[in-house]
Amino acid sequence: MKKVLSNCESKFHSLCCSIFGHHYSVSKKVTLHIKEYKCIHCEREVTTDANGKLSQLTPEMQEINAALEKLYQKKHPSPQQVA
Ligand SMILES: [Zn+2]
Repeated sequence: MKKVLSNCESKFHSLCCSIFGHHYSVSKKVTLHIKEYKCIHCEREVTTDANGKLSQLTPEMQEINAALEKLYQKKHPSPQQVA
């Protein structure tokens, strides 16, 4: 019964997403301009691409973001890392 309910819920959420659009919340800050987002309803993950648009977060994109994040942190060390 519980399983049926949760199936219904996820279907409902997906339906919501297809009608109202995804409700993304930031899941990871990569750089000042690039972030990773996750839909709070269907858990779809997207990221800011080179054109500043949202595209699906593929394993390749995740690798690129990880590299960008390292570069960014080198250039902009947080106060804790300096001290
Ligand atoms: Zn969604």
